[in-house]
Amino acid sequence: MALALFSRRALLLVRLVRMGAPLQRFDDLPKRARNEAVVVLAQSKLLRKLVPGLMHAFIFWGFIVLMPTIVLAAIYVVDREPGLPAKSPLAWLERQGWFALLVDLFCVLVLIGIATAFWIRKVQRPKRFRGSHLGEADLILGLITGIVSTLLVWHGSQIALGFNEWPADWSPVSNTLSGLLGDGQATEVLERAFVWGHVLIILSFLVYLPYSKHLHIATAAPNVFFGRTRAPGQLEPLRFEGADDELRFGAGTVEDMTWKGILDTMSCTECGRCQDVCPAYATGKKLSPKLLIMDLRDHVFAEGPKVLADASFDPSPLVPNAVTDEVVWDCVTCGACVQECPVAIEHVDHIVDLRRHLVMVESRFPAESEPMLRDIERSSNPWGKPQGERAAWADGLGVRILEPGDEPPAVLYWVGCAASFDERARQSAESTVKLLLAAGLDVGILGPRESCTGDPARRMGNEYVFQSFAEQNVATLNESGVTKIVASCPHCFNTLANEYPDFGGRYEVVHHTELLAELVRDGRLAPAASGDSITYHDSCYLARHNDVVSAPRELVAAVGQPVEMERSGKRTFCCGAGGAHMWMEERGSAINEERVREAAETGAATLAVACPFCTIMLDDGVRQTGRDLRVVDVSTLLVEALERE
Ligand code: SF4
Ligand code: SF4
Repeated sequence: MALALFSRRALLLVRLVRMGAPLQRFDDLPKRARNEAVVVLAQSKLLRKLVPGLMHAFIFWGFIVLMPTIVLAAIYVVDREPGLPAKSPLAWLERQGWFALLVDLFCVLVLIGIATAFWIRKVQRPKRFRGSHLGEADLILGLITGIVSTLLVWHGSQIALGFNEWPADWSPVSNTLSGLLGDGQATEVLERAFVWGHVLIILSFLVYLPYSKHLHIATAAPNVFFGRTRAPGQLEPLRFEGADDELRFGAGTVEDMTWKGILDTMSCTECGRCQDVCPAYATGKKLSPKLLIMDLRDHVFAEGPKVLADASFDPSPLVPNAVTDEVVWDCVTCGACVQECPVAIEHVDHIVDLRRHLVMVESRFPAESEPMLRDIERSSNPWGKPQGERAAWADGLGVRILEPGDEPPAVLYWVGCAASFDERARQSAESTVKLLLAAGLDVGILGPRESCTGDPARRMGNEYVFQSFAEQNVATLNESGVTKIVASCPHCFNTLANEYPDFGGRYEVVHHTELLAELVRDGRLAPAASGDSITYHDSCYLARHNDVVSAPRELVAAVGQPVEMERSGKRTFCCGAGGAHMWMEERGSAINEERVREAAETGAATLAVACPFCTIMLDDGVRQTGRDLRVVDVSTLLVEALERE
């Protein structure tokens, strides 16, 4: 009966996932197997928080070790002395002393894990659990306690009655319990009661599991296996050509969600690790990545079965029925949630898919970002400036501005719109070019032939505009014979390196901090360090999405005295500009001000950056908070250090 109920629900879950739109996730099998081993078996992401990580690992590893005992209990519940075939693996296993020891050990570790879980939930009460189903979690923990303690008492009574196949000395806990029980008739009753209790709790657990948040016990492993293996900052492209029923314009209803997106919603453990690191949530916005996934899950379960049952059922829009507009637009696509999630849920892909539908199908987006989208389309840059002014910053610097047919440079400097048009960001372009020329590199820029990469339009959800810019830029780069690109904007860097290959643009792309660090290492640039303390802010699109962490630090150490902020490297905190937020109004407290406060707490006089968007946002944050900090690109610090020398 329990198996039938479980199978009925499991079948529905499988049909719901199969209902999802196609997505290629069957490639890259060795990397998927490695992720499974590291993230699921070794619990690597959970163990980043040591105590809760160990708590979960004890319970998870315990379940793996105790799996054969569940099968044995299901046999012994029918017959106290079943006489398993002597050569069967189960009969062999139950005779092993080492296995008996492992079972006892993991029973205790699971109980320690459960006690720790209760202590965290009832005493510590971390904020990350806000909004989670805590009562349900308590029930599940209670059931696991029941499973493990009945197993120990059952084994103890088996030893007391002499029914144990394994050497009793190898199971210290069960053996100790057996000493308390004696070998009388009461123990015989107890033995039956506890094996039945053990099996009944397991069956109850089995029936309850697929209806509860602990569904992740079954879905987390496949979700990790099918998690993205491409670069974290790379969005899946939409196809705009092909048969009508194959085209997708983001996610408007449950029918548009990808199968991986649906599996994501079933895999959430409600642990709140994503919520804990979300800059939008931390600054009082409506968005919580955890609640986003939970709300999508509720919607999938409410409408998915109706879609499956009735082809004429018209599902309701995901926005605002599952998720509000505010939640969709609060996200800065920093990827902190995705990085922390222990079960490979891809929040950014969900949010971008929701935006794609709102923007491309409903023309619904924050009004203040409309000029940006219009300016990209009309002027090829979100600043709305004439393309003829794009290279004005380079006047007198002696950098080659490539004309069609010119000899390609050894390195093309991709300047980006911010460094081309924003007064504060321009300084980093000037510094970068000065340094590359000083090191004797053959460097050129495209000048007016460089356009916006399309990144802000893509993160806003306007995939159509992005793809037209991607195709245009790739054509220009290919015609110019470019093979190596240096970019100082991490957003351009991410797009050129990770997203343009989908459109035929394959280049060696480096960030300016990587190239400059190499030049310093080679002795082609020789800066003199000052005694100034400098704290470096990692851009999300550089550190988290692209793993460029050490090169900018090498440069900071070469020009001053580095001091780290608490949130740094791949676990950095956003400046607030990502996901096209540079062009959106912010509700709640400001993300850039929060980051500036953290930087000021280090006591550093200089806040070094390696991104023009971070430069603008953090400089604004310094002005708004009145902190005494100089926000400056690492390249400019390097120029100053060379001049000092
Ligand atoms: S990408 Fe960043 S802002 Fe968006 S939900 Fe995740 S943590 Fe929050
Ligand atoms: S989405 Fe991931 S990190 Fe967030 S609550 Fe769910 S399992 Fe935890």
